[in-house]
Amino acid sequence: MLSNIRVVLVGTTHPGNIGSVARAMKTMGLSSLYLVDPQVEPDGQSIALAAGASDILKSLVKVDTLDQAIHDCDLVIATSARSRTLEWPVVEPREAAEKLALQSQSSPVAMVFGRERNGLSNEELQKCNYHLLIPANPEYSSLNLAQAVQIVCYETRMAHLSQLQQAQQTPVAYPCAEDHERFYEHLQRTLQKTGFIIKNHPGQVMQKLRRLFAKAQIETQELNILRGILTSIEKNVVDKDSKE
Ligand code: SAH
Repeated sequence: MLSNIRVVLVGTTHPGNIGSVARAMKTMGLSSLYLVDPQVEPDGQSIALAAGASDILKSLVKVDTLDQAIHDCDLVIATSARSRTLEWPVVEPREAAEKLALQSQSSPVAMVFGRERNGLSNEELQKCNYHLLIPANPEYSSLNLAQAVQIVCYETRMAHLSQLQQAQQTPVAYPCAEDHERFYEHLQRTLQKTGFIIKNHPGQVMQKLRRLFAKAQIETQELNILRGILTSIEKNVVDKDSKE
């Protein structure tokens, strides 16, 4: 799924940033990098800053227009350091990451980053489904390009991992109200037989036990174990005693 998530850099002017972006991506498990109309070629500085992620530089895709980079993507999120005058659905990194991780399960998706000097044009922003604004210090909200990429990639990884975990979880079975009532009846019967509860003076024991089990939120399997314990007490302790 992470391979379906594309990082698109538009008009990048600093080769070091391209390398740092590659590193930011690889550390978060992303690998698909597109450069739209780059103003520089990846060079030795890019390779140095990419460190162990230079394979991403080797496999990057260069295109002339944003349209070419996103043509097959079902979800495109543009990033912007400042809120623009144009009204557009705005998301923060966490929400954007959840959308990207979810949609990438079935199709390619893209996060788009702008030029170091002046970001993305209004025309480019309008090609995207959402605008992502990292809620940074309002007095100085413009992050370095690769650091902005790092934040969005990190959130995307977190969202991806939590969606994987949720998919792997088998839902826990809880007993229905009727099963609870049968258990409490069984418990009361047994405790009366053992003499812990005196039939005519039951006190508040059962209410307190109900509260205890309510707090424990017992699962069906656990309830069955408790029923089994009660049955074994009835059979082996109470019934035997009454026979003797
Ligand atoms: N001076 C530019 C900022 C460019 S920073 C401007 O005002 O638009 C380069 C890129 O890093 C931005 O285009 C955006 O993709 C990303 N970026 C930097 N800070 C960001 C922030 N606070 N929220 C979202 N993206 C940000």
